[in-house]
Amino acid sequence: MDLMPLEEALSYLLKEIKPLPPERVFIKDALGRVLAEDVASDTDKPLFDNSAMDGFAVIYKDIEGASEEHPAVLRIIGEASAGGETPPEVTRGKAVKIFTGAPIPEGADTVVPVEFTEVKDDTLLVKKSLKQGANIRRRGEDLKEGETVLKKGHLIRGYEVGMLAFLNRTTVLVHRKPKVAVLSTGDELLEVGESQTRPSQIRSSNHHMIYSLVQSAGADPVQLGIAPDDPQELLELLRTCKDYDIFITTGGVSMGEKDYIQFLVREVGVDVKFHRLRIKPAKPVLFGTYGEHKLFFGLPGNPVSCAIAFDLFILPSIRGMLGLKNIFRTKLRARLVKPFKRKDSYRREFARATVRYEGGEFLCEPHPKLQSHMLSSVVESNAYMIVMEGVNELPEGAEVDVILIGDIP
Ligand code: AMP
Ligand code: MG
Repeated sequence: MDLMPLEEALSYLLKEIKPLPPERVFIKDALGRVLAEDVASDTDKPLFDNSAMDGFAVIYKDIEGASEEHPAVLRIIGEASAGGETPPEVTRGKAVKIFTGAPIPEGADTVVPVEFTEVKDDTLLVKKSLKQGANIRRRGEDLKEGETVLKKGHLIRGYEVGMLAFLNRTTVLVHRKPKVAVLSTGDELLEVGESQTRPSQIRSSNHHMIYSLVQSAGADPVQLGIAPDDPQELLELLRTCKDYDIFITTGGVSMGEKDYIQFLVREVGVDVKFHRLRIKPAKPVLFGTYGEHKLFFGLPGNPVSCAIAFDLFILPSIRGMLGLKNIFRTKLRARLVKPFKRKDSYRREFARATVRYEGGEFLCEPHPKLQSHMLSSVVESNAYMIVMEGVNELPEGAEVDVILIGDIP
């Protein structure tokens, strides 16, 4: 059977990803959410002309041409502090001591930084001429009242939380988070801490890995744990899919006799859009829809396949539901540091690799262990190197596309 190319699979998926409806949250709970409204400035920012430096507010004419040899001599008549009382007016021959952020006193038009001055009692010597208006932050130079600062679709990071507070917002409209069920299937699976009773049992990593990946993508995961390869039990669990925006299973989607998921999902109303792709690993990945734009993903059991299927299909789905426009992981071009060879070139391969920045370019080194049961290759990597269909060999120095899954050293 022909396998479906990745682009075709993605085109089916992209059609189904819609931002979830908006809800109002406190700004302290807005981290990782995406704006469902434009946010405008509540006032001019800054709201008043203020000092950019600690120093003295003066009239430019009084310090014009001042120098080390011929300092301007002024009298200090008061102080302007941030959050303090209204400072006295500055008239010719006078100066007001001023602190960063304090309002510029009436009459003053220039701030002389403290390092260009000398003070003796209430006498100020200014030893340098500055431009008129120097060191003054003007009202509205950052933002004008009513100006849009953050647009719909903008991701709220710590910086944006700070901006929302600065704009005097206590709450903000964001898209709802998807609620995501995670279920691992397989008779051989053991929960963490559960004792091994048969040598054929293996420790399940997938349900914990996918749960955490869902959480780090910004969605709300729900842990359904481990289920045996039992059609009745599986069917009961799958029937709860209507309670979630996304339902994820791992295992049981391949060609084995106990791989029931592909048949059972149809019984609970999933319209299967793709199953079996021309990619390596994660070939048997299954995707379908149910209800109103709800998404079902049947991931293969091998942990590396699971991780890659998550990054290729589920992460973009979550990001799209959260309201983001840029839904895919960052891709960049890197130079291969050693030759790469493979026997079968039919599928597009996502080879775990380490990308580093060195000598002004990104370098890529594929992991030596590339089989799909070796999760160590994922935790020891920060990227997937893309090896296109039809490519058997890449020479040292070849340029390759990589998808980043971690920071670059
Ligand atoms: P399956 O997709 O069910 O045929 O499983 C493929 C391989 O992945 C088998 O070697 C399974 O033992 C392994 N596997 C399945 N589920 C998990 C899991 N939750 N955690 C770790 N390995 C798994
Ligand atoms: Mg299985």
